Amino acid sequence: MTLTLLFSAPDRAWPSYETALPQALKAAGIEAHVTREAAPEAVDYIIYAPNDMLTDFTPYTRTKAVLSLWAGVEKIAPNPTLTQPLCRMVDPGLAEGMRDYVVGHVMRYHLGMDRHIHGLNGAWDHITPPLARDRSVAVLGLGELGQTCARTLAALGFLVTGWSRRPKEIAGLTCVSGSEGLETVLRRGEIVVLLLPNTPETENTLNAETLALLPKGARIVNPGRGSLIDDDALLAALETGQIGHATLDVFRTEPLPQDHPYWAHPNVTVTPHIAAETRAQTAAEVIAENIRRGEAGEILLHLVDRAAGY
Ligand code: NAP
Repeated sequence: MTLTLLFSAPDRAWPSYETALPQALKAAGIEAHVTREAAPEAVDYIIYAPNDMLTDFTPYTRTKAVLSLWAGVEKIAPNPTLTQPLCRMVDPGLAEGMRDYVVGHVMRYHLGMDRHIHGLNGAWDHITPPLARDRSVAVLGLGELGQTCARTLAALGFLVTGWSRRPKEIAGLTCVSGSEGLETVLRRGEIVVLLLPNTPETENTLNAETLALLPKGARIVNPGRGSLIDDDALLAALETGQIGHATLDVFRTEPLPQDHPYWAHPNVTVTPHIAAETRAQTAAEVIAENIRRGEAGEILLHLVDRAAGY
C-alpha cells in the first residue's frame, strides 16, 4: 500500500526535502507519496514545521504520527487538537551544527579573542588565558544537543558541569539536576551555555536572582530559546558587569526587533537563529526510519512527552 505523507511546513523548506525525502523513503523500503496537499482523512503521517495553514489536527483521523522538522516543539506540543503521537527532530546534522556553534563561542570567551580581534592599539598587553582544564563551563540542558556540546567541551579539557531535569551520570562531566542542582551549576558557570527547551518550567531560568549566582563577569551563550532569559535582568546584569558578555542566537520575538537594545549593546553578540539547522539529508533519514517503525508497529523514535512539553 502506498502511504500518503503530508509535508506541512513553510515554503522555504520544501526544495531541499522534495528530493531528500523520496530518496530516504526509498532507501528504507517505504512506498509513499509525499505531497503538500491532501484530503486530511487520507493522510498517514504529517511531516511538520509550524505554519499558518495547518493548526487544527482534528480532521486527520487516519494520521498515525506527526513528525516535527524542528527539535524545539513548544509551538506544537501544547496544541489541544493534536491527539496523534508527536515526534521531535533529532538529527545528527543538527547536533554537529550546535556543537560547532557552542564550541566556537565558548573558545572565543575562553581565549579572550575579542581583545585581539578588536585590537590592542599598540599596547603589548601580555595576558595569557588559562588552560581549558582551569575553566569552568556550565551547560544547562543535557539532552541530545546539550550532551553533545558538554561531552565535546569536556573532551577539550574544560571543567564541565551539566544540569538536567532528571539525574544523570555522564563520564567526564559533573551532572546535577533539579532545583537544588541549579545553584551548583550556576555558581560554577564562568561560561554558561543554555540548551534547555521552552517550557513553562524553563521560562526565565536566568533571572535577576539566578544571574547573581554566577561568578562575576560570567559569559553566556544562548542557542536554546529566548524565553530562558529574563531580558531586562540580563541587560541590568550587563550594566553592572555581573555578566561580562552574552552571545544570543534566539529571542522571544524573532526576527529580533530593530530597536531592541541587544543589537547595539557593546557586550552582546546577536546571531540570527543560526546555531544549528535541521539538514534535509540526515533529517529525511530520521523521518523515513520513524515511518518504517510506525508501519512495523515498533516504538517511534524521539516521542515528545506532552506533559513535560519537550
Ligand atoms: P532535549 O533532548 O529534549 O533535551 C532537553 C534537556 O533539557 C534535557 O536534558 C532535559 O532534562 C532538560 N530540561 C528540560 N526541562 C528542564 C527543567 N525544567 N530543568 C532542568 N532541565 C530541564 O532537547 P535538545 O534536542 O537537546 O534541544 C534543546 C533545545 O535547543 C531545543 O528545545 C530548542 O529549543 C533548541 N534548539 C535551538 C536551535 C538553534 O538553532 N538555535 C536548533 C535546535 C534546537 P532531562 O534530560 O532530564 O529530560
